[in-house]
Amino acid sequence: MTAGAPMKPATTAVHAGLGAPRPGEPVLSPLVPATSFYADPDVIGFSANDLGDDAPHFYARWSNPSAAALEARLARLEAAEAALSFASGMAAISGLFLHRLKAGDHLVLSNVCYAGVAELARALPNHGVAVTAVDTSDLAAVANALRPETKLVHIETPANPILRLADIAALADLAHQTGAALSVDSTLATPIATQPIQLGADFVVHSLTKYACGHGDALGGAVIGKNDAIAALRRDALIHLGAAINPFAAWLILRGLETLPQRMAAHANNACSVAGFLESAPGVKRVIYPGLPSHPQHALARRQMRNFSGMVSFVVDDGAEVARRLAQKLKLVAYAVSLGKTRSLIFHIPTADLLRSSFHLEGRDAESYRDWAGDGVFRLSVGIEDADDIIADLEQALLR
Ligand SMILES: *Cc1c(COP(=O)(O)O)cnc(C)c1O
Repeated sequence: MTAGAPMKPATTAVHAGLGAPRPGEPVLSPLVPATSFYADPDVIGFSANDLGDDAPHFYARWSNPSAAALEARLARLEAAEAALSFASGMAAISGLFLHRLKAGDHLVLSNVCYAGVAELARALPNHGVAVTAVDTSDLAAVANALRPETKLVHIETPANPILRLADIAALADLAHQTGAALSVDSTLATPIATQPIQLGADFVVHSLTKYACGHGDALGGAVIGKNDAIAALRRDALIHLGAAINPFAAWLILRGLETLPQRMAAHANNACSVAGFLESAPGVKRVIYPGLPSHPQHALARRQMRNFSGMVSFVVDDGAEVARRLAQKLKLVAYAVSLGKTRSLIFHIPTADLLRSSFHLEGRDAESYRDWAGDGVFRLSVGIEDADDIIADLEQALLR
């Protein structure tokens, strides 16, 4: 490594956030479960409102060494100034929304996104915040939805569960023209595929529960952005809403990040093979994978993603019946929710249920969703097992 050259991701994933090498100190970032830290009465006040940006650790809900190591590594992986960890992805997103949006403000939200976010946004009008849900793959629709009061545009790319993409650089330009900030839920992409801050986004959010952790054994979330914005978020949202990450979860996720580049390469390679198999499998009507030339936004995927990630969605006839058969017959792939774990996971998401209970889409928006998802999609999180074994398991279970 030449002096001053930025570390490559595989190096950052292992080294960012480690302390200085000192004889007798551990060579990894230790787990620190302490809830309070020795304080200097001249340096630190009692209120979060007096917290300086470089204040030492004080109380674990403000900051703690295990969360700080994770935050340093995440910021570096996203090529951003700062990161703030939360107890879950939803805690990160609700913290960001409640911090950035006040009564009278307006949020533009992707009309396809993590169901919990769509459901959370429906409660915002109770706090005086107006919300417009739009197809964020359609730049004209987003331009139409923007108002002088729009403070935040929140997108997800690829969007759960139909893997629709949104053009981060173009949406950042649009949002900034009206003075709004752009936040990007990049959970499915991970920083290995896409670095939204580098493309002009103001905030990146992650459910660290998924690929970042990678092993399905810790909940966490993060918001990443500029120093000032993240310091304000820490004071306003983390400290007062209280959803601080558990140090043990932070430590597990920090360890998970060490292999993120290698795991994402394996997830994407396997997903590519599995998507190819599904495209020719009898009974499969449609396969959605950003890495396939048949994805309607494959050109954008090539431009915006260095890795097509491990999520594959597919549509079959009689999804509900096939779901029951898969749950019974799959041996290696687990029929379960969540994603981004070493082990392959699959779950069926019926369109009618999702549109009714989470997205509340009607008319043209509902039609457009059905164009992608039919009556329902199988969301397959392709793991890092051998691709041949994953395909063989799917093949035996899909057969009647
Ligand atoms: C899982 C997920 C979330 C929510 O994260 P939790 O850690 O479960 O709270 C948000 N966005 C996306 C895209 C997700 O997949």
